[in-house]
Amino acid sequence: MTERFDVIIIGSGAGGGTMAHALSATSARILILERGDVVPQEAENWSPVAVWKHRRYQTRERWLDGRGREFSPYTHYCVGGNSKFWGSVLFRLRREDFQATEHMDGLSPAWPIDYDTLAPFYDTAERLYHVHGETGSDPTEAPRGPYPYAPIPHSIEMAAIVGQLRQQGLHPSPLPLGLVRPGEPGGCVLCDTCNSFPCQIHAKGDAEVCCVRTAIERPNVTMWTKARALRLRTDPSGRKVESVDVEHEGRTRRVDASLIVVSCGAINSAALLLGSASAIHPQGLANSSGLVGRRYMAHQATMMEGFHPFRKNHTVFQKTVAINDFYFRGPDTPYPLGQIQSQGRTHGVMAQTAYPFIPLWAYEAWVSRGVDWLAMSEDLPDEDNRVSVEADGRIRLAYQPNNTRAHAMLVREAKRMLYRLGFWSVVKHSHGSQNTTHQCGTLVFGTDARTSVLDTFCRAHDVENLFVVDASFFPSSAAVNPALTIAAQALRVAEHIRETELT
Ligand SMILES: Cc1cc2nc3c(=O)[nH]c(=O)nc-3n(C[C@H](O)[C@H](O)[C@H](O)COP(=O)(O)OP(=O)(O)OC[C@H]3O[C@@H](n4cnc5c(N)ncnc54)[C@H](O)[C@@H]3O)c2cc1C
Ligand code: SF4
Repeated sequence: MTERFDVIIIGSGAGGGTMAHALSATSARILILERGDVVPQEAENWSPVAVWKHRRYQTRERWLDGRGREFSPYTHYCVGGNSKFWGSVLFRLRREDFQATEHMDGLSPAWPIDYDTLAPFYDTAERLYHVHGETGSDPTEAPRGPYPYAPIPHSIEMAAIVGQLRQQGLHPSPLPLGLVRPGEPGGCVLCDTCNSFPCQIHAKGDAEVCCVRTAIERPNVTMWTKARALRLRTDPSGRKVESVDVEHEGRTRRVDASLIVVSCGAINSAALLLGSASAIHPQGLANSSGLVGRRYMAHQATMMEGFHPFRKNHTVFQKTVAINDFYFRGPDTPYPLGQIQSQGRTHGVMAQTAYPFIPLWAYEAWVSRGVDWLAMSEDLPDEDNRVSVEADGRIRLAYQPNNTRAHAMLVREAKRMLYRLGFWSVVKHSHGSQNTTHQCGTLVFGTDARTSVLDTFCRAHDVENLFVVDASFFPSSAAVNPALTIAAQALRVAEHIRETELT
């Protein structure tokens, strides 16, 4: 027998989890389909060996790159999605990120909505995800009210570094971080296994903790885990999705709903729509523009570690500093370069994944004397950077990073900054063309159905009961971490759905 719901939400990460939370208080019968399982609370959550060497929580899927070579995507299928593993840096986009901006290698296009449209939803998302920050200290931030929670204090060593950065003429500010009750009984203990690890004590502001757990307590919300959506089927007109084929409990089931919200992550959502091609949608569902899967972006991101042989780093929680001085322009160029932020501590095992032939003790000695940073630049939408699906259903990600000259300049500035801080050397590492961490852009939103897949409320132009609320809708990637914007837009779309579809 086919089961029927009012709303099916596919994926329970930053977008889908937030949507489930926002719709759970309605009377709609909601089904969350999540292809992964709940991440168990276990000792391995905080084990660098389990997480980095054995890749315990990462998908075992193999994808193909643009040249057809296999690789292991750094992504996680579980309740809460990649939010379970995020570093909890929850930035708003800058006001200027919503406007068209000329970059060194091309144009970052305008969004069809402006900062003020999203601002009230950013406020709600920050409360929902327990964001700690400080208003007024980041020169690139739009005028705003206070953060819901005070900033996380810097460690003694990071506070000293912040003082030195100010002497260099920079304007470091506290990173906005989503952490649940830091320092309080039962709350976040500010450990050194946060970014890329699930939180063993559920104190990370992630989509499972902040959204899904409470949503599924409601009688109208059901969640199926290990339930993978295979295909969306439309009615004969092609204008409405009628049902979802789901692989669940060893069989393929069909579930019907009045409204479908896809939120599988930018790559998997594009793959799902492409894989839902039919006689009436031969190029893939909602793909009359031909843009489904195209314009993939993921940020130019370089991890950097400043090393000093005689200076041990005693900081435990290191991810507290943002430097946005080069966000809008570089010292030697009028073009934007991006953002620098301090990173969580690197563990020896983690470093060893880059060059396994170097012994672990050498890495441990190295990282105990290192301070970690991330330099991140905007990459630009390019229709040839794209997700496609092979005949056997496998995902192919053809991605050639761009805006690389601006990123090289940012890395140069970060290096200069680290040498001025007295570090003897700087090592760096990047995922390059296999970068999927900040994936976005594959189902762009806009006002024109010929040049976008979704409308400004993330409804498919071609299919009236289909919404997509993961990072797919981004017209540009900006150069701050994407998740708060995903959550804020999901809240905005949820409000629209409540007002127009569930009344
Ligand atoms: C290690 C790491 C650190 C990060 N740190 C930060 C950070 O500090 N700040 C920040 O802003 N961003 C960070 N990110 C990025 C952030 O996690 C993502 O931008 C965000 O989670 C994307 O949300 P989403 O809803 O688009 O997708 P996801 O959160 O990935 O959720 C997609 C969900 O869909 C499910 N799914 C996929 N396909 C199907 C299917 N066919 N059927 C059913 N379910 C399906 C997946 O299992 C998953 O649960 C980080 C990412 C990683 C990996
Ligand atoms: S305790 Fe705090 S710092 Fe440690 S993993 Fe949990 S949320 Fe992150």
